Amino acid sequence: MNHKPCPCQSHKSYAECCQPFHQHTATPLTAEQLMRSRYSAYTLINIDYIVETTLPSQQKHLDKPAMQQWAESTKWCGLEVIAHNPKFAKNRATVEFKAYFETEQGMAEHHELSLFVYKEGKWFFVDPNV
Ligand SMILES: [Zn+2]
Repeated sequence: MNHKPCPCQSHKSYAECCQPFHQHTATPLTAEQLMRSRYSAYTLINIDYIVETTLPSQQKHLDKPAMQQWAESTKWCGLEVIAHNPKFAKNRATVEFKAYFETEQGMAEHHELSLFVYKEGKWFFVDPNV
């Protein structure tokens, strides 16, 4: 059991939060859970998880080496989920969040409104850049 606090700052332990998703023993039930587990995966440099939770039709367009390098070079400082809209549209949800990271110039934030699609019993992230 991993009792360290979960990187997604849910105030739960990693074992009780994102670890079961990363280890495929559980599936996120909401877009917010998926979003949190993707943030945690970035902090743990688990790029496979980022890829497999992206919309299947987009996966082949993802640049894994670039994602890996970005995750390795980023010092993550925290996550704040601002809003979760689980009924944005049929089988679609949005999550608005801020992710904080450190740069040479100091702390920076990444503010995003992400779209998620529910497909065949799972939530997937829709990458706006693909
Ligand atoms: Zn978590």
